[in-house]
Amino acid sequence: MLSKAKTQWAMQQLYVLLPDAKGALIAKSPFQLLIAVMLSAQATDISVNKVTPQLFADFPTPNSFANADITAIEADIHSIGLYHHKAQYIKTCCQQLIDKFGGQMPHTHFELEQLAGVGRKTANVVLGDAFHIPSFAVDTHVTRIAKRLNISQVDASVTQIEIDFQTKLPQKTWIQAHHTLISFGRQVCTARNPHCTECPLLTICKSGQKRLIKNT
Ligand code: SF4
Repeated sequence: MLSKAKTQWAMQQLYVLLPDAKGALIAKSPFQLLIAVMLSAQATDISVNKVTPQLFADFPTPNSFANADITAIEADIHSIGLYHHKAQYIKTCCQQLIDKFGGQMPHTHFELEQLAGVGRKTANVVLGDAFHIPSFAVDTHVTRIAKRLNISQVDASVTQIEIDFQTKLPQKTWIQAHHTLISFGRQVCTARNPHCTECPLLTICKSGQKRLIKNT
């Protein structure tokens, strides 16, 4: 397993490589971010940002979503994958926000994960980006990179990967590390044909080294 020191060294290289990495979802409040993150499951941030201005104009509050006809929510998000399920989750989530939390956004994992459609990853993104509470969200990019770099075991669960990063990185860097790793996964350590020859982590990455040997 990659040591704490080497994991921190790797992140330093990535901060230099990708100094502007940040969340791409556009939201003006923690509530809007929650809805945007829910919409982003199996959809691109760009596609979500295209529909949310109209969606939030039509449904500005948890109450307006909770009282909406489901087809009206669907009409605003139909270009997003799984829109029917997402519309249902959003409506139910907003009903629960009102019933359980008085329409206010909760600030803890435990409370957020009680809401329909909100899992660990969504809760982590909302806590980190909306409330600046140290959190480390694990998505498909982070999972792939953790395993390729041996930061986590190849069979590690998402929960274990979160723990591995939290153990190896300073808490104050968790939120930025998440965004930097996602940018790195999108631009360099891509799922197919990662750009290993241009990667600053090649010297510590057995996966990348094997890939290059195989391709010579
Ligand atoms: Fe990813 Fe290749 Fe870099 Fe390893 S060397 S982290 S596989 S891009």
